[in-house]
Amino acid sequence: MNASSPVVAIYPGSFDPITRGHEDIARRTLRVADRLIIAVAHTATQSKNSLFDVDERLELMRLVFAEEDRVEACAFSGLLVDFARARDVRFVIRGLRAVSDFEYELQMAQMNRELWPDLETVFLAPEVDYSFLSSSLVREVARLGGDVSRFVSPVVAQRVREKLAVG
Ligand code: ADP
Repeated sequence: MNASSPVVAIYPGSFDPITRGHEDIARRTLRVADRLIIAVAHTATQSKNSLFDVDERLELMRLVFAEEDRVEACAFSGLLVDFARARDVRFVIRGLRAVSDFEYELQMAQMNRELWPDLETVFLAPEVDYSFLSSSLVREVARLGGDVSRFVSPVVAQRVREKLAVG
């Protein structure tokens, strides 16, 4: 990479659905990167506890980042390192909410480095207000009838309500 190449980063995850915590990490990334690819992992996302399918998650991201043309959302399957290499991207972004995230995240980063030494994992901490937030908790609260509108963008809250009303 030379000094004039744009810095591109990949933020991988399941994003079921995208929360304000994810949005915060994405926006922080854009302070240090020129472009961001938010990558929804197919393999990690097919749990029976999922709420949105991958296409719905992508659509929600496109709506959430409609005003931000430096963010691209796409799906990937297989290894993250293969996806990153195919896109020629060398930065992976992960969020660290608390010490409890650390062990797993460090293990993943070390494994990815074993698989492709050119890939750097960069950890960002969210706004403290979002440090308790996870997609799985949002799904659980919503399924039990709680209001999740503080934790996700309005468009996401609306889709969650619609989904649970029909489901
Ligand atoms: P979740 O952990 O919410 O189910 P993902 O598996 O999609 O979400 O997580 C993708 C990445 O985003 C992980 O690095 C995770 O630590 C990070 N992340 C998720 N929620 C938050 C949050 N509220 N603040 C900061 N990072 C987060």
